[in-house]
Amino acid sequence: MEHLEYRACRLCPRACEADRTAGRLGCCGVSSTLRVARAALHAWEEPCISGRGGSGTVFFSGCGLRCVFCQNRPIALGEAGREISIPRLADIFDELEDAGAENLNLVTAVQFVPSVLEALGIARRRGNRLPVVYNSGGYESLETLRMLAGAVDVYLVDYKYASPSLADACASAPDYPSVALDAIREMLSQTGAPRFDGEMLKGGTLVRFLLLPSALLDAKLGLRRVFSLCGNDVLYSLMQQYTPMPGMAPPLDRRVSESEYRSLLAYAAELGIENGYTQERESAKDSFIPPFDLTGVLPKESV
Ligand code: SF4
Repeated sequence: MEHLEYRACRLCPRACEADRTAGRLGCCGVSSTLRVARAALHAWEEPCISGRGGSGTVFFSGCGLRCVFCQNRPIALGEAGREISIPRLADIFDELEDAGAENLNLVTAVQFVPSVLEALGIARRRGNRLPVVYNSGGYESLETLRMLAGAVDVYLVDYKYASPSLADACASAPDYPSVALDAIREMLSQTGAPRFDGEMLKGGTLVRFLLLPSALLDAKLGLRRVFSLCGNDVLYSLMQQYTPMPGMAPPLDRRVSESEYRSLLAYAAELGIENGYTQERESAKDSFIPPFDLTGVLPKESV
């Protein structure tokens, strides 16, 4: 059955109203047909997400945010990836469970939420019990998030920009700071405080802050804002893995400095953040960007 949400689509805050059922591409670069670039075990999320078995990560093609420095540009533009059916996505979820995944990690899925929910329903009815991690850039509409209530166990969400000017410069989305904050509030209301089983996060919201070069004040403002809203009811991940893509203009043409990152960590401690993850400097390598080579996307017999 066709999902009506794809007609005059308003699934994300761009609300561009493209009729994706007619094959038109929205601002996110994809039609209503599911498109996936990679589905595989992924070891490079926070330890409570990757665990020992790896996170069963599905990279969806397309993105409504499209940050200028995006490291996943080929999939953000909708270029990389292969169209698949909803039953095939349900099979992928089961194959990841069979492979020993700790969870299902849905990366940038907002543009396909109705189809993802249908696939999850199929997999659940067949006995798939993996926790669901919704991995989001934070640019989410409340209506779409409410469709996910009860289906998502963990929200893994960025708070990328605290000031409208930076959000405008980097993603043409000056409304991002307030939209993402509302999204985090909704996510926390759905999941409640973090719940662990051993080292694994089984429920809760983890907010990521990717420090950008020369944007320390913005990152501190973002951290303060999220902490004022959520306190220690969410987990915090302070990231220094920013890697400049070729051709980036200053200041985005360099990695963040050690002193910038140290200053962000000190500020987090000053605020009273208790539950968080930090990142080694070694993480800023593009070898951590997985190849979008359709691994796990197609059924084995057709590869
Ligand atoms: S999900 Fe895509 S088509 Fe839908 S509103 Fe957002 S950018 Fe437009």
